[in-house]
Amino acid sequence: MARLALLIRCQVCGHEFDTGIRMDRRNFARATFASNYHSCPRCGRRGIYHKEDFRVKEEGSLRTGRAVRGVD
Ligand SMILES: [Zn+2]
Repeated sequence: MARLALLIRCQVCGHEFDTGIRMDRRNFARATFASNYHSCPRCGRRGIYHKEDFRVKEEGSLRTGRAVRGVD
């Protein structure tokens, strides 16, 4: 099953960043994320984020694969 990368958007500056959390879709569906603290790498503000604040991205789709190929 594909791993999901969890991203959030900073409540202060709007910068979207990777929380470093990885889980599969099933665990994400079950998880509650009552109160998660994350610090924005851009403005440094720490905020509490809830499940509905997370944006998920399939890790597989982050790979560039063979997109960078030919030099012909
Ligand atoms: Zn920020």
